[in-house]
Parts: sequence; structure tokens; C-alpha cells
Amino acid sequence: MCLGTEAGDQDSCGRCRSCAAVQRGDHPDLARLSKDGATIRIDQVRDALGRLRFDPVVGRVKGLIVESAELLREEAANALLKTLEEPPSNTVFVLVTSKPQLLLETIRSRCQVLRFAELSPTDIADLLVADGKTPHDARTAAALAQGSMVLARSLCDPAKIQVIDFVAIFALALGEGPSSDSAAFIEQLGARLAETAAGGGSEGDESPEPAARSSARADLTRDGLQWTLDVIRAVLRDAVLVAGGIEVQTLPHVRHAAAISALVQRADVGQIMAVIDACQRLEERMVLNPNARLALQALLLDAGQRLRGRPGES
Ligand SMILES: [Zn+2]
Repeated sequence: MCLGTEAGDQDSCGRCRSCAAVQRGDHPDLARLSKDGATIRIDQVRDALGRLRFDPVVGRVKGLIVESAELLREEAANALLKTLEEPPSNTVFVLVTSKPQLLLETIRSRCQVLRFAELSPTDIADLLVADGKTPHDARTAAALAQGSMVLARSLCDPAKIQVIDFVAIFALALGEGPSSDSAAFIEQLGARLAETAAGGGSEGDESPEPAARSSARADLTRDGLQWTLDVIRAVLRDAVLVAGGIEVQTLPHVRHAAAISALVQRADVGQIMAVIDACQRLEERMVLNPNARLALQALLLDAGQRLRGRPGES
């Protein structure tokens, strides 16, 4: 559909008027079908197919995208099948599903399967930068997004990045001082997490009234604990990579380069790995553990001991 690339090109330019219309969702040659209620009905399919009867208005091809194609009701699937058997010229049908086994065999056999793998952190960071995010924020969010662009977009919000950095700075300083004050850290963390959650993640929301914010008992929730463990593991993973000789400038948490280098100076890889393992074990036990705050506090005390220095030194 792209007008900015040659026919046969695999990619699109993202800038021409055709690409812009696709992104806005009002391209005249592209029909989209998605569930209405729990299923996709036959009249929706007929409507969409009707729009594909005419020649393309903007580009060279027309398209129909069926989201959650496994939700096509049987008669809707059969209506679509008839068209797939004798497709109109210059028309591309895309059936998107995470459950291909639920499609009619007759439909599946007419489809070419394209698998979409998890996005790599580098791909995610590039896409976020293309969205206008700063490279630093993009890399930080991408490192935590587990291959999910949706998750990456929700993390790549200045308020959330600030909380991520807050955790990263604390984690990288573990073992540095005589005793890191984990209780105060968790107290502040709980409050900050409650604040970012209250913002709802959607930009432009009014922030909550200061009175409401201070009266909320900001204890660390289980989700908050999970999230904190993800951040701790991600920054410690960077430290392990640096210890292994990877250039710190290439890593997601490059803005904490100095703290990462300092950690690698005072603790060895085995000690850092032990803390990453401890995060993993706590995550597995979390269901059994009613008190996220105490669990995290114990983990941080233990980590502070481990990361204090190489055995036999000082
Ligand atoms: Zn284009």
C-alpha cells in the first residue's frame, strides 16, 4: 500500500500519505475486521468484503485485516472462505491470530503462515525512538519489555522511567556503603509506584490531589514487587555483561555506567549472579509470601552483604 517504496519491497516507508492513512486507521483501501462482542459475525464479513469490490483508491493493492481471526463464527468464516477461494485481484487478506488451530482447516490450508517472533530489545528501542522517545528512555523501557511493544510503550513514560532509575540506582549501590537503608528505599518506592499507578499511565491525566496522594497508604504491592525484581535483574544483568567484557556504552542502562563499573569493581560475577538468582527464587515464592515489603527487604539485605566486596579483599 506504501507509495514511498518500489513494488515488491517488503517494508513500508511510514511517511507517505498511504502509510499515514494506515496508521490513522482511515485508509480507503484497507478494511479491518475485529470482534464485535465475543465473535466476528457474518454481516461484518459481508460489509468488509463489500468494500473490497472496487479498485484501489490510493495505491496498487487493497487489503483486509482480520484481527483475532479465531473468533470468526462458522458462517462468517465460510463467507470469508468463499472469497479466499476466488480472491479479487490486487487484494491481500491478513488473518491475525495467536490460535491458528482454531481456524477452519479449509481457511488455514489457503493461508501462508507468517510467524511473528518476540521483538528484540534493540528493535523495541528503535521503534520507541521513532515514536519520539529519547534514546535513554527507549533503551531502559526496551530492556524491561520482554519482547512486548505494548509493555514497552507503557513503560516508556517519563514518570515510570524515573521510578525505574530510582530502583536501578539503589540496586547498583548495594553493598557500597556500610549498610544500605533498604527500609527507607522500600518506603519511598511504594509511594512512587502508587503515584505512577494513580496517573493511570495515560498522558494528560490530571495528577491526583496532593491530599489524596499522602493519605493513600503506599505499601509495596505484589505487582510492585514483581516489577522491582524485574528492574533489579535487568541492571544486574548489565553489570554481568560489563564484567564479561561488553562495552558499557552498548547496554540498556548506560546512563548508570559509572555505578555499573563501580559494582563490577567491588563484586565479582558469581556474587552478582547470586543476587539475580535470589530475585528469581523470590519471584517463584511470591505466591506463598504474603508480605512483599518484608520479602524485598530480606532480599536487599542479603544482596547488600553479597555485593560488599570480593571475598578475601579489604
Ligand atoms: Zn509509505
